[in-house]
Amino acid sequence: MNYKAICLISICTAAFNVNASDIEVCGELKQGELAILKNIPAEVETFSIGERIYPITEDGYAIVAFHRDEKNNLKLSANLADGSKQEYSLNIDPAKWDIQRINGVPQQKVTPDSSHDEEILREQKEVRQALQNMKQGDFWRQGFIIPVEGRISGNFGNQRIFNGTPKNPHTGTDIAAPEGTPVKAAADGIIILNGHNYFYSGNTVIIDHGQGLQTIYAHLKKANVQQGDIVRQGDVIGFVGKTGRATGPHLHWGASLNNVRFRPHSLLDINNKTCQILKGK
Ligand SMILES: [Zn+2]
Repeated sequence: MNYKAICLISICTAAFNVNASDIEVCGELKQGELAILKNIPAEVETFSIGERIYPITEDGYAIVAFHRDEKNNLKLSANLADGSKQEYSLNIDPAKWDIQRINGVPQQKVTPDSSHDEEILREQKEVRQALQNMKQGDFWRQGFIIPVEGRISGNFGNQRIFNGTPKNPHTGTDIAAPEGTPVKAAADGIIILNGHNYFYSGNTVIIDHGQGLQTIYAHLKKANVQQGDIVRQGDVIGFVGKTGRATGPHLHWGASLNNVRFRPHSLLDINNKTCQILKGK
């Protein structure tokens, strides 16, 4: 529930229940979603979930994302300047993931023989390195736009079955659009990967938006940027294609925070999410 709304209705009686360690969390506490932490006490230096460290912007915001398969009872730690920790419990709701059957994929893209090992390893290594970035900056604060308008042809998190063979769950959202449609940067950022001709993702661009948040654009016909470029929201970074493992032209739009893939459409209302108070223990 929105804490400010409670304040207006009940003349802030809820405020008596707020103490110094409480923080505000905005967004669905659900598998595959992104949430923003606000009103963070000054003595908090970083947050952590397990081994992952989440920094705080200079003006006091942090973002966290929940795995597709996140467990219900998640511990969020606020790491204080004096070395102590404040613990928060997050009850993560389960999401319902569809099963998507995709047929007509070239069989060598489903069960590749060992002659493709090297190129698959190159793709995995380059993408992994890009997603481990933790750059300064908070470009994400401006909000996000959809990079391409079109029909959603594959949801984030789908359990996918290619030519009858179960493969990994879908790490992004597929948006169908004609080949050559311009793909826009969803927000300002820095191009941290301009990957060519990957076995699965085809031509792939990754933009870093600061604080470990990246957006991923795959199966491009062609990129329109170079690694290291600074892009503004709406800039054309490439064109829709069907390179890599794709049965037709579409944009595979992905999002990653601190190496956790989440539903990219969760970015579109990043500054308008419903908030609730999180009580420290
Ligand atoms: Zn996809």
